[in-house]
Amino acid sequence: MKRFVCLFCLLLAACAAPPPEPTATASPPPPVTPSPLPSATATEEPSPTPIPISAVCSPLGGHSFQALLGYISQGFSPPPSSSNWDGGHHGLDFAYYQRNDPGGFGGHIEGAPLQSVLDGYVAGLGYASIYGHYLIVETPWAQLPPGLAALYSVAEGQSAYVMYAHLQEEAPFVLSEPLDCGQMVGQVGATGDAFFVVEPHLHFELRVGASGLRLAAMTYYGAQDSPAEQEEYRRWRNSLEFLLHDPLPLFNFGAAENLD
Ligand SMILES: [Zn+2]
Repeated sequence: MKRFVCLFCLLLAACAAPPPEPTATASPPPPVTPSPLPSATATEEPSPTPIPISAVCSPLGGHSFQALLGYISQGFSPPPSSSNWDGGHHGLDFAYYQRNDPGGFGGHIEGAPLQSVLDGYVAGLGYASIYGHYLIVETPWAQLPPGLAALYSVAEGQSAYVMYAHLQEEAPFVLSEPLDCGQMVGQVGATGDAFFVVEPHLHFELRVGASGLRLAAMTYYGAQDSPAEQEEYRRWRNSLEFLLHDPLPLFNFGAAENLD
């Protein structure tokens, strides 16, 4: 009987002996298996957040690009020389509904809703004597329709900057705020110094330059304009960072894309 008990005890001892081993083998796996997993998910992170390519939307609510081509009241003309860097007309102006009517000018577009032409981010907003209330929207290269990026030679690391000027009121946004194509950004007005603005119209300006511009307050011709404001104005208008382009090809591009 004693022998039988002893054998049983030996069996118990033999069974009790292994437990320490599993704890020894259990500890190594955790560091081995979790470490490859996070690195695998980290490398996959960029794929779930692709930046969608923007559509191209008419800047005037309810009016197609095709119609807008008939509302141009002043065309684009670049500065006549490097010394007269602020001369010429740096954008396209739209003032009338039916400028090409045989009977003369049609309705004014004062108060018409303005829309963002592309997806993007607020790169500048404020009031300048020459622009009135203005808004600048940046669209990085990755979000530009490829045809439009090619049209204006926008390269990786660069953005297209679209300015809407003479808005009726202060643009209701903050710097870096994201905007969608077609989102309302204001209304056509006649704000700005009377020397520069004789009638309500949209001044539409297009520049291409390094991504990430966040323009501080800019203005130049007012008596109270500070040196810092004047420097920002020159940066936007005259620096080689933001090259001026004729916006008309964009409107032709939009008219071809949106045949409505
Ligand atoms: Zn203009």
